[in-house]
Amino acid sequence: MKEVLTETESLCPVCLSRIPAKRVVERGDVYLEKDCPKHSSFRALIWRNAELYRNWSQYSQQAGSSQKRLTDITQGCPYDCGLCPDHEADTCTTVMEVTHKCNLDCPICFASGNEGSRFEPDIATIRGMYQTIVEAGGPYPVQMSGGEPTLRDDLPAIVALGKKLGFYHIQINTNGIRIAQNKEYLARLKDSGADLIYLQFDGVSDDVYRVIRGRNLFDLKVRAISNCAEVRMGVILVPTVVPNVNLHQLGDIIRFAKQWIPTVKGVHFQPVSYFGRYPWSPKDEDRVTLPDIVNGLVAQTNGELKETDFLPRRCEDSHCSFSSFFVLMEDGKLQARTDIAQEAVSGFGYRKDPPAVTARNFISRRWRLASEKPKQTEKGCGQCCGPNQEAWRRFLERESLYYLTITGMPFQDVWTLDLHRLKRCCVHVVTSNKQLIPLCAFYVTSISGERLYQNLPTDITLSRTD
Ligand code: SF4
Ligand code: SF4
Ligand SMILES: [Zn+2]
Repeated sequence: MKEVLTETESLCPVCLSRIPAKRVVERGDVYLEKDCPKHSSFRALIWRNAELYRNWSQYSQQAGSSQKRLTDITQGCPYDCGLCPDHEADTCTTVMEVTHKCNLDCPICFASGNEGSRFEPDIATIRGMYQTIVEAGGPYPVQMSGGEPTLRDDLPAIVALGKKLGFYHIQINTNGIRIAQNKEYLARLKDSGADLIYLQFDGVSDDVYRVIRGRNLFDLKVRAISNCAEVRMGVILVPTVVPNVNLHQLGDIIRFAKQWIPTVKGVHFQPVSYFGRYPWSPKDEDRVTLPDIVNGLVAQTNGELKETDFLPRRCEDSHCSFSSFFVLMEDGKLQARTDIAQEAVSGFGYRKDPPAVTARNFISRRWRLASEKPKQTEKGCGQCCGPNQEAWRRFLERESLYYLTITGMPFQDVWTLDLHRLKRCCVHVVTSNKQLIPLCAFYVTSISGERLYQNLPTDITLSRTD
């Protein structure tokens, strides 16, 4: 039996027109169903476990945003991104594409719509992109992205410019090849002020990399992390999770991450999304949903991680992500600290800051490798440990250095795109056209590979065909 849960809007995968959509429950899972009057009916699995979907719905933040708007409402969502006055969340992370060139040819790359493009903004354009973020209310955390940003020899200068302009957290989204092969380049990035390496890391064996990235890469990944440890640069491991390829390696990835604490600060799981030319509707078995990741983590760590350790964040729609925080204890086990995870999810009476502010603080504080061990106060806290100074010092050290964040975000593709969710997006791509575009709108493509938005130094390209 089918039950309509709620209504929303989406896009037609063929013509990218805005069309009504329904979230429906069937056989205990949640689907997005929609009809285009000119084309066909479409249905996509968005969440396995309807009960958990309902449960996480209650964490949805109150809509609202105080950020300056850079575009007007003319055609309605999602065609007015800038952000427009209809957007319901502030920026927590900005993504800055600094090149479309890449040294890999990954079959699953969501930037594949950039194929053939030689977009590579010069420093003046990049300065303008930083200024756009400031104009919108920043500086906010920035992720240098691409293409492969480390192909630019002047990336350290780009980072240094951001630091000079007051950007307090700049991370580098990379496949790791150059920083594995060239430690001197990594050291220059570190010296320029880069805070974190956001490393594509799909698994712990080469068969996974051959399928997802087209070549063996595991040894290179290890070398990249080892180099980061040497220059004291923090790392977030970022697996793209694909059914029948690496869904069974979630536990192995966590065990690998534990071996590299404190250099590795966290693991950020991204279920595969279908961008680019993809002429058929992905089947249920092609989908990994957030509960699949949580269940896999619980099952593959033999209960070391528990379902209740994972919370939806409040910065964005509660079905856009999960967050958790663990301290690596001296017995080698991860111990959940949901009170600290709440720094990322906000609310629950724990913090009063707006969700985006809390999320920004969490990223800039927890996604970096502390430069020194925490200082011991003269008397400890004087409450929980009494005279046991050494125990207190060790606890402080573990909590501030030996921890692991485990987070996840399923990007929406044209099949799963839910405009209510998109309006609450807090991850925004800054363009050379002076706009901030929610990431899932920026990369969404029709089945023939047409994009709504391009990061090119021209006006927005609307590829809607109605
Ligand atoms: S996604 Fe946000 S910024 Fe873009 S059109 Fe919709 S409401 Fe406006
Ligand atoms: S990038 Fe996509 S999945 Fe992430 S918060 Fe924005 S809309 Fe949600
Ligand atoms: Zn259509």
